[in-house]
Amino acid sequence: MLKKKYKEIVIGTNNKGKLREIKDLLPKSYKISSPKDYKLKSPKENGKTFLKNSLIKAKHFSKKTGKICIADDSGLEIRMLNNEPGIYSARWGGKKNDFNLAITKIYSKLQKKDKNWRKKKVSAKFICALTIFGLKKKPIQSLGVINGIVSKIKLGKNGFGYDPIFIPKGYNLTFAQMSKSKKYKIDHRAIAFKKIKKFL
Ligand code: IMP
Repeated sequence: MLKKKYKEIVIGTNNKGKLREIKDLLPKSYKISSPKDYKLKSPKENGKTFLKNSLIKAKHFSKKTGKICIADDSGLEIRMLNNEPGIYSARWGGKKNDFNLAITKIYSKLQKKDKNWRKKKVSAKFICALTIFGLKKKPIQSLGVINGIVSKIKLGKNGFGYDPIFIPKGYNLTFAQMSKSKKYKIDHRAIAFKKIKKFL
């Protein structure tokens, strides 16, 4: 049996924002790699849930590399938009992963739904499903959820994706206005990670 400190774990994502964040959460005793180090592309995410899609990614990268893999599938659900974009959060950014485009799409859909949406509190939540594959016989999975509201305008320069429009409950700042260390402590990924870190 290899000692923990010699174990390698692949972070199963090609998204730079997620990679940075998961790297920060993992114990320092692991050698960390990413699909890019193995020149691997992401698999098709054809699951209908965050949990299923994170399993698809973790299994794919673990099988391709022969290493343990931790993969995340996450997204933003907006109640007024019937929980869109949800599992399609990345896809709303188009082929170029353009989050300005995705945010513009959200604002225009909200506008169509309710012209006065900016005068209301529009509930939203970030969800993160994590899967560790290849560590135990069965995949280890967890789910993290953080509630909040949609910001009326884009605010802040930190983070990635929908961070500039999400204000977590109990705060007056968007994720993109928070320091990276603050966001990493409280967000959906941190909540999901807390539930499974004992296995690592
Ligand atoms: P996927 O899990 O790779 O399919 O993509 C998740 C998508 O959800 C990302 O590309 C972002 O658009 C969004 N997302 C997930 N987590 C976060 C976050 O912590 N901040 C901002 N956007 C996020």
